[in-house]
Amino acid sequence: MLRNDMLEQWDRENFFHPSTHLGQFARGEAPQRVIKTATGCHIEDRDGTKLLDAFAGLYCVNVGYGRTDIADAIADQARELAYYHSYVGHGTEASITLAKMVLDRAPDHMSKVYFGMSGSDANETNIKLVWYYNNILGRPEKKKIISRWRGYHGSGLMTGSLTGLELFHKKFDLPLTQVIHTEAPYYYRRNDVSMTEEQFVAHCAAELEALIEREGADTIAAFIGEPVLGTGGIVPPPAGYWEAIQPILQKHDILLIADEVVTGFGRLGSMFGSLHYDLKPDLITIAKGLTSAYAPLSGSIVSDKMWKVLEQGTDENGPIGHGWTYSAHPIGAAAGVANLKLIDELNLVQAAGENGAYFQAALRNALSEHANVGEIRGEGMMAAIEFVADRDSRTFFDASEKVGPSVAAALLEQGVIGRAMPQGDILGFAPPFCLTQAEADEVAEKTAKAVAKVL
Ligand code: PLP
Repeated sequence: MLRNDMLEQWDRENFFHPSTHLGQFARGEAPQRVIKTATGCHIEDRDGTKLLDAFAGLYCVNVGYGRTDIADAIADQARELAYYHSYVGHGTEASITLAKMVLDRAPDHMSKVYFGMSGSDANETNIKLVWYYNNILGRPEKKKIISRWRGYHGSGLMTGSLTGLELFHKKFDLPLTQVIHTEAPYYYRRNDVSMTEEQFVAHCAAELEALIEREGADTIAAFIGEPVLGTGGIVPPPAGYWEAIQPILQKHDILLIADEVVTGFGRLGSMFGSLHYDLKPDLITIAKGLTSAYAPLSGSIVSDKMWKVLEQGTDENGPIGHGWTYSAHPIGAAAGVANLKLIDELNLVQAAGENGAYFQAALRNALSEHANVGEIRGEGMMAAIEFVADRDSRTFFDASEKVGPSVAAALLEQGVIGRAMPQGDILGFAPPFCLTQAEADEVAEKTAKAVAKVL
């Protein structure tokens, strides 16, 4: 085995890490950790330090680490057939079975699933499908996509533009021209403190209507949104939000893309966020929970309505000019089949709902009295604590004070991983669904200690 110091040096010298302070890392001034193994909710690094991962990697290891049944399915698939493509009608038992399993779980009006590798590429696929659809329908000017501020949809050229977080735009000059942003359904951060939740929902709906009016409905193809805002702060929508938004989209013939990369396959305590909030999307983006990250795989689930038009398009224009070498990769598909079976066998969707409720209650018991805890919120196995300088006036800390990252660091010192969300002083949690009550209590108690240390 390589010596740790050697590995760390190679890491600094050769490895370009995503979402990292590049200069600080290369100079050895930023945190560095080499992960070796993991089971359940715990990861372990090469020094033998064990950490309770209350963010499931990047909210993706939904069934928990070290599931040998998924590992065995991957190994069996690799031995039998490591790769074949899925172009021009080719498939594997795993990819065909997984497509059926996904559709069996998706809302009834969904018709087909296209497989990719990451959430970002699945959203790129979705945007292309929306444009293709409108071109076939003879309305090529209907192309703009509405996204929400604080939405996260990936970091590709188009998906990075859709993402409504400054960090992902800064210095990249992304092609934002076809992307327009609207208000985030973030009640706690509303501009007018006196607004009721109901008034805020009406305000979000009015903002959307005004945007559509300004731009012209005949130029707008789709609206993309996460059922619960994830990277933008883990923010469940206020009551009535989706009920107010969907009719506006329908009225203007604007397609709905539900980005369920985080919420798909159980994280909210329902199989899909679309089922949880009664959404009728035209496309659903899936990734993380599809394989619980045991292998990279994503997908775009397409509605009946869109499918009929796409079919008609290829009858007239030839095969669809869209595909990746690794679309429906057999190893990813085998991981997906084993993962979805495990979720059923262990009843993990229900567990996510129940364990999530327990976890949120534990956080509230431990922290809601603290003067700098503005809000504790969540849905299922997604939870967040938002810190404020003053609770009564809802005054936020200055970003330069780095309160969120400091609390996350103080928590890490005690062996628990939470995530400082990228915009605002928000500590996020999205544990594996198998989080036990003892682990939930541990996260809550250690978070309270971390908060007491920093604030
Ligand atoms: N969409 C959502 C809602 C996400 O949270 C993410 C990633 O966190 C993505 C898309 C992008 O997925 P990936 O990182 O696999 O490209």
